[in-house]
Amino acid sequence: MATHEIDDIFDDILERAKVLDPANARKWFEELTVLHLDGGSLVIGCPTEAAVQFLRDNCKNSFTRAAQQITGHLIALEFAVGDDVKSEGHPGRSEPGLRLHPDYTFDNFVVGPSNRLAHASCVAVSQSPGNTYNPLFVYGNSGLGKTHLLHAVCFESREKFQKTVIQFLSCEEFVNRFIRAIEEGNLIGFQSQFRSVDTLIIDDVQFLREREQSQEEFFHTFNALYNNGKQIILSADSPPGKIPSLEARLISRFNWGLVARIDPPSYETRIAIIKKKAHLRGLSISDEIAEYVARKVQANIRELEGALTTIYAVATTTGSEIDLGLAQTALEGQIKASARRISITDIIGVVTNHFDVRLADLQSKKRSQSITEPRQICMFLARNLTNHSLEEIGGHLGGRDHTTVMHACNKISQVKDTDPKMNSLLSDLTKKITQPVQT
Ligand code: ADP
Ligand code: MG
Repeated sequence: MATHEIDDIFDDILERAKVLDPANARKWFEELTVLHLDGGSLVIGCPTEAAVQFLRDNCKNSFTRAAQQITGHLIALEFAVGDDVKSEGHPGRSEPGLRLHPDYTFDNFVVGPSNRLAHASCVAVSQSPGNTYNPLFVYGNSGLGKTHLLHAVCFESREKFQKTVIQFLSCEEFVNRFIRAIEEGNLIGFQSQFRSVDTLIIDDVQFLREREQSQEEFFHTFNALYNNGKQIILSADSPPGKIPSLEARLISRFNWGLVARIDPPSYETRIAIIKKKAHLRGLSISDEIAEYVARKVQANIRELEGALTTIYAVATTTGSEIDLGLAQTALEGQIKASARRISITDIIGVVTNHFDVRLADLQSKKRSQSITEPRQICMFLARNLTNHSLEEIGGHLGGRDHTTVMHACNKISQVKDTDPKMNSLLSDLTKKITQPVQT
């Protein structure tokens, strides 16, 4: 297959994957490449190891389904760091074992009065580990950006000090590894693993509560690192003194360096965060909508993101522009999941009605324009609004094979791009198909 053909197919696969799983769609998908496409195997080249992990964890399913729907074949799919991909302007490559979320960089973190100190101290520590604030203790309620900042420190330190050894894990993982080491009689291995790093980052240390033996072990790890001038960064949902059943000697050590609180973001910061998140997903969002979402969701940034995902999901599935009306409907839950459960029968119903043709005609061999066009529109809409395979769509429309359906979809998609009348027709039909039945 020619390279440009592969690129075209791959673009279609990416578009399709976005529709199948809007929550995990990202603008940097544009940087993905095809490393290998052959028979039933597709290897996708990614800019960084963090991107590979993100895609494996979140997108394997949607990408596989998209690839199968677009090509009409069974596909085994893998992600790998692509050799020929430029990684400029992208978070640094992370070492294997350090699981970082590609979105959680300093660039993607919006600074406001609620998190300024936490942000500044994380930046300082990543520039000069062990020399500024040690330990650095960041705390705040859930969903306010603690984990994001800790990942950003890792990206930044890796970028600046290529050889630095960072150990970053959740407190739960620390405790579990400790328990496993005891079971396996390998406490020495555990200790040397943690005491030989340049930076130790432990997320959610409130999890140490009531784990006396882990606290004891952590105390010794802490001392070993601290005495060697190694950086320690911790996060929790409350300040050290307020973590229940935390040993006094740990509380006192956690207070030795800097304790930075993160508060819920102000209205202005929320607007900036929404815009940042929209940008990451390759969406442009109007001020009006950003303001609407910022008013609607106040306490937790994770929910702010969830609201954006909902709006995006509704817009993608219905093929509508994102406007205030759509945002309101999406967030008020009026469309609910109905947009996702569209059947081919619904689509055929709306299309035959609009063109005043019979289903039997669409299924027949007739090739007159008055029949071919509605037939192709049905195929296009079914492909974009449902999860059915090309074969299934062809089956509903007179047993046509997948190449016919693919051809129809490409044709309508081309016309849509050049002919505003087709564009508005498709969006009218989509609205009718996706509108919840008025009761
Ligand atoms: P926590 O660890 O405090 O519970 P997270 O770091 O997991 O919170 O953040 C939850 C979500 O909110 C993440 O997607 C994160 O990217 C986002 N987020 C939090 N604060 C900010 C910020 N200031 N700018 C951009 N995104 C943010
Ligand atoms: Mg967290």
